[in-house]
Amino acid sequence: MPVVGVFGAGQLGRMLALAGYPLGLQFRFFDPAPEASAEHLADRVCASYEDQAALERFAAGLDVATFEFENVPVGALEHICRAVPVFPPLSALAIGQDRWEEKRCFESLGIPVPTYARVDTRSDLEEAVRQIGLPAMLKTRRMGYDGKGQVRIRTAGDVEAAWQALQGQPLLLERYVEFDAEVSVLAVRNRTGATAFYPLVENVHGDGILLSSRVPAPCATPQLEEQARAYADKLLRRLDYVGVLAIEFFLERGVLLANEMAPRVHNSGHWTIEGAETSQFENHLRAVMNWPLGSTALRGMSVMYNITGTVPDIERILRIPGAHLHLYGKAPKPRRKLGHVTITADHHEALAQRERELRMALAAGSSGGLEPRVA
Ligand code: AMP
Repeated sequence: MPVVGVFGAGQLGRMLALAGYPLGLQFRFFDPAPEASAEHLADRVCASYEDQAALERFAAGLDVATFEFENVPVGALEHICRAVPVFPPLSALAIGQDRWEEKRCFESLGIPVPTYARVDTRSDLEEAVRQIGLPAMLKTRRMGYDGKGQVRIRTAGDVEAAWQALQGQPLLLERYVEFDAEVSVLAVRNRTGATAFYPLVENVHGDGILLSSRVPAPCATPQLEEQARAYADKLLRRLDYVGVLAIEFFLERGVLLANEMAPRVHNSGHWTIEGAETSQFENHLRAVMNWPLGSTALRGMSVMYNITGTVPDIERILRIPGAHLHLYGKAPKPRRKLGHVTITADHHEALAQRERELRMALAAGSSGGLEPRVA
């Protein structure tokens, strides 16, 4: 049986394994965290990314390695590259780890981005505010996710507090986009260069964290779908990419502005498990194994809601027709993603009704007795 090694053993790794077992794949994870969502599904090496002996133990006998977490140090992957093929390519990972490099890469391909400026010193920040205007977002170049490492600057009076919050690391300032919608496109390419694209997904964020994803995207038009695919296609080719790549965009007055990319399976693609012919997880595995890609066609309409912070009444959710519950086995904690629910339906009215029921169940909060198992 082919063995796939995965850096990161969080929920994305767990869903990769769940998608891979029916294809006859086996898994091995590497994650330094004391608790990991995927470790109940396969062996896990728990060591630091600097531990070369542990990296070699992890790589021994693997057919291919991949990652589900984009902040894996590139050096750790370089170390095992000698023993096992690693996909997506490390150059894509390195670009995805740095917002500045990411934006330069988008621009070099003619993909529009919100105006931005590099900020390394307090006077760079003053200059950037003058150039870009306010409101704006100050962001760390590296290690930002789920709204961490970013501060909104509304007025000149907020500049000092934003600087105090983030200074000491490379930053960038970005125009605050009054977007009409946020969308993402999920693209996949295998080792022989075959590509496939999922339809545009419309996403809603709250406090920097993804709340929900919907397909078909209500804001989508055939032109927007085509534009997003063309941008994704350019990136796949430029990066000689293998695997699933997610690109997030702001839609501002009909124009797509790239916000960021994730060189991995993505939260805005969880709906594909039930809502597409082939899930993003299966297609990622097909791509890295160099197998034929599966169809990305929709199976009806879907909306996905993240479960964050506390686990709601599970039985109430399971009673909703067309509701598909996924819990990741993680301990509850404010802002932590603990699971998601995808609702599917084949027409608007059914989806709207089911979604109302789900929103009420999520708003009612935890059942008290049904806490998730601590991973
Ligand atoms: P990010 O970590 O860059 O994906 O940001 C998380 C979320 O914060 C985005 O999905 C937006 O909802 C919001 N956000 C980030 N940057 C901007 C921006 N320049 N203008 C408006 N909203 C933003």
